Amino acid sequence: MRPPALITATVALATLVAATGVPAQAKPAEPPKEPVAVGYGGAVSSVDATATAVGLDVLRRGGNAVDAAVAAAATLGVTEPFSAGIGGGGFFVYYDAKTGRVHTIDGRESAPVWMTETSFINPTTGQPYRFDEARISGLSVGVPGTLLTWQDALDRWGTRSLAQILKPAARVAEDGFTVDETFAGQIAANQAAFGQFSSTSALYLPGGQPPAAGSTFRNPDLAETYRLIATQGTDVFYRGEVGSDVVATVQHPPLAAQPIGSWPYPIRPAGMTSDDLAGYRTRFPEPTRSDYRGLEVYGMSTPSSGGTAVGEALNILERFDLRSMTATQAMHHYLEASALAFADRNRYVGDHTPQNVLGELLSDAYARERACLIDPSAALPKPVAPGVPDGAYDGCSVATVADTRDDRKSTTNLTVADRWGNVVEYTLTIEATGGNGMVVPGRGFLLNNELTDFNFASTQGTAPDPNLPAPGKRPRSSMSPTIVLADGRPFLAVGTPGGATIITTVLQMLINRIDLGMTLPEALAAPRASQRNGGSTQAEPAFLTEYANGLPPGHAFSPTAEIGAATGIEFLEDGRLLAAAEPVRRGGGAAAVVGLWARH
Ligand code: GLU
Repeated sequence: MRPPALITATVALATLVAATGVPAQAKPAEPPKEPVAVGYGGAVSSVDATATAVGLDVLRRGGNAVDAAVAAAATLGVTEPFSAGIGGGGFFVYYDAKTGRVHTIDGRESAPVWMTETSFINPTTGQPYRFDEARISGLSVGVPGTLLTWQDALDRWGTRSLAQILKPAARVAEDGFTVDETFAGQIAANQAAFGQFSSTSALYLPGGQPPAAGSTFRNPDLAETYRLIATQGTDVFYRGEVGSDVVATVQHPPLAAQPIGSWPYPIRPAGMTSDDLAGYRTRFPEPTRSDYRGLEVYGMSTPSSGGTAVGEALNILERFDLRSMTATQAMHHYLEASALAFADRNRYVGDHTPQNVLGELLSDAYARERACLIDPSAALPKPVAPGVPDGAYDGCSVATVADTRDDRKSTTNLTVADRWGNVVEYTLTIEATGGNGMVVPGRGFLLNNELTDFNFASTQGTAPDPNLPAPGKRPRSSMSPTIVLADGRPFLAVGTPGGATIITTVLQMLINRIDLGMTLPEALAAPRASQRNGGSTQAEPAFLTEYANGLPPGHAFSPTAEIGAATGIEFLEDGRLLAAAEPVRRGGGAAAVVGLWARH
């Protein structure tokens, strides 16, 4: 049932030279950075050349996909610290070649026990806090899950200890890496927030400015934190001195005596405690599954809405023969299916959604009812109403309510495959680029602002909102690490950052590859648009040039420079791996394979 293997001229880019492994000297040589690689023996794709090189080195030395994914993720905590790190959380999806099963780890941050449904309402005004006001505070910080995700992944499926796996990342933090435009730009964009905190400005605003592109950046505190974890285990974080420092930072934000620049809001502390940290648990939910044109698509269940929303949209799209349509008509159906799936996601999906509701949302009968709303000759007025996933489907549903707030692009994603056929798709984040802006003093990592992924106030009118805060609850995510099997064997693995656009980008890449005849690198590079049941669809300029004029009436667009920063691997029928990363977005990513395939 697998779509025809497509590797075309794009793949001739496979000029990757062997990665040199982990930089060891004071001024490390930059590892190679190519968006496409084809070969065998394992593959890694991430946004960052150093992280990809570290993951590849683990594979070369006999580690498996889980070992390599954790090593690469720990390195991203150093080189992409504004998107990911042990101050945050994420979702880890793993295909186990021995059993043929897909497993997941939910390492999402959880709300401390102090949190209530009204925690994001300003008691003085009775109004919800503004996003940045909540973000740069202790209120937004969820109990981090990333470190326990790494430990659990290694314990269950890895072959190396966490201590071994953290070594290369600690070395990168100590020896340094070269600052690129993206890194410097992310600091510049956060300068006002970072400048309020002594710890953050000392690390990221040396001399009051972001480090220059081309300079070497070192983070000795983070190197030391990784080494402490390596010797003392994750308890030093969840029950020990690192955890105490996390709690102290949330309770007493490290305000600078002389801030760099000004910040328009008061910086509020909050009440996370050591008990919150000690009580943190990862979860191991069953993946979501939806069958699409004979393929099995596995994704992340709640608290992520990724698996259900991508799955529901695919189920809706399966009712249409996208292949026989013009590309523009296919895009029309993609946008409409996204809007319908988002209406349901917003109404029904949160951390506590019952399994039977999730099951209905992913049922083919429900998708049929939703699909019948799509009109090929006009766009539906937005927002569209959520449906009623009650098991009784006999007509088309109607009504309103939108949530299109979340369109930021932080977070990071990586894809790894090993020579045994195991696959990891892992999306990790600290939420906004730069998290809550506070580096934990002396520890070298930023805290997340993941709790701003809760709805601050009800968004569903008189219906219950599934994503209001509550003690211990996890905020709804859109992260959508996805593994697709064909005849029970890996065919594709993809994921991306991008807030709520993650769902639409993963969906778009899947239909690009499966239905629209693109290669995986083309499916990643193609212009993107994101319709999330809002009045206007966000679209990259190239999407507008290509499709805007041909689409049926009723679509409205707001241009946005870029959406997402994806990675993926395709498992070709002849056994080779095709690893792909962004050619351009977010400065381009790095794909690599253990054994390079040379074209003859
Ligand atoms: N916090 C977002 C989520 O979980 C991800 C943030 C991003 O990718 O920008 O959906």
